[in-house]
Amino acid sequence: MDHFHLRDGELYAEDVPLARIAAEVGTPVYVYSRATLERHARVFKEALTPLGDPHLAFAVKANPNLAVLRVMQREGFGADVVSGGELARALAAGMPAEDVVFSGVGKQEYELIRGLDAGIGQFNLESEEEGVELAVLAEARGLRAPCALRVNPDVDAGTHDKISTGKADNKFGVPIGEAPAIYARLSAMPGLDMRGVAVHIGSQLSDLAPLERAFEKLGGLIASLRANGLKVSHADLGGGLGVPYKAGDVMPSPAEYGAMVARVTQGWDVRLMFEPGRVIAGNAGILLTKVVRVKRGIRDPFVIVDAAMNDLARPALYGSWHDFEAVRPSNKRMTANIVGPICETGDTFAMGRDIEGVEAGDLAVFRTAGAYGATMASSYNSRGFVAEVMVDGDKYAVVADRILPEEITAAERVPAWL
Ligand SMILES: *Cc1c(COP(=O)(O)O)cnc(C)c1O
Repeated sequence: MDHFHLRDGELYAEDVPLARIAAEVGTPVYVYSRATLERHARVFKEALTPLGDPHLAFAVKANPNLAVLRVMQREGFGADVVSGGELARALAAGMPAEDVVFSGVGKQEYELIRGLDAGIGQFNLESEEEGVELAVLAEARGLRAPCALRVNPDVDAGTHDKISTGKADNKFGVPIGEAPAIYARLSAMPGLDMRGVAVHIGSQLSDLAPLERAFEKLGGLIASLRANGLKVSHADLGGGLGVPYKAGDVMPSPAEYGAMVARVTQGWDVRLMFEPGRVIAGNAGILLTKVVRVKRGIRDPFVIVDAAMNDLARPALYGSWHDFEAVRPSNKRMTANIVGPICETGDTFAMGRDIEGVEAGDLAVFRTAGAYGATMASSYNSRGFVAEVMVDGDKYAVVADRILPEEITAAERVPAWL
């Protein structure tokens, strides 16, 4: 459920007409609904209450905007970060360092040091090599770094290949068969406090079965680690719950997910940890755009909008679907190809889509753009970075300024010898 709805024939974000935001901030612009973020955070939290006191870390990469992180912090979420930049954002948003989990296969030395200096709650180690490097850095500082070992359970998440992370040939985690030996060796290092295991098999999962298989394997691993006399007090189950992108899509609910987790993890005797991203932010944001022109096509017309693949990359990257809705529905229908202005055929949001009739100058939205939207933007074709707005009831604020192409050019230099 979200708070983008029609009222008196036009689309609103909570109590603010999107047309007002377009007039005052310009387009394209991302619009987030605070009430929707909060609702999703609470539904997720409530679904997990049978699990005791789980640790919740919002996956910052889904939407790293500081205002969004602040909403999550106020809801009691920590952060799952995958870079020094994300760590800085989580701290800047007021998340306590001990609620930060640091994931990622390529953490560099300076990033490990920043995590140690900040006193983050957990490093999710993705290789033995990383653990050895962190142990040396921590010991030199007289610290013991709290760590979980991320394992690759070799489970097919059944989602898009590019966002599957738990198959044996993916780069993430250590092979689950090697995990007991690696965990034992890392546990013997004085710079590390090996306290648990972690798994994250992919994103936009539409089926709980692969998650259940991965968690069962993790449970088996915990038992065998303990049988070897090793300490396991935490189990991080990652993120991955899918969201409906298309009206009518049915996804597993947080409640069904919570019930499955409760069943599988019964008797584990650990503190469970979660890293949801998309399920919190996805439907809490839209990309507001304007129709530049409608161009005749051989078959269907091309609706050319002012948003492009540099602003919302998912359709070009993964062939993803985003519902397209007119801000002031005309009650006429048309079949159209929806494209951006970028000089790439990949800059296509939809082909042969049945949509509300739109004309040049009309406003429209791409739905479900709150996760993996603005954060994946680039400046391709010398376009700027779009602004981001957060709505709260009948007010809104610009939470990220539009960055103009000339501001990007200002960071470039032509050397004197040219
Ligand atoms: C991306 C990611 C998440 C969040 O995934 P969602 O599908 O957005 O819930 C959680 N944990 C890790 C390690 C990730 O890389």
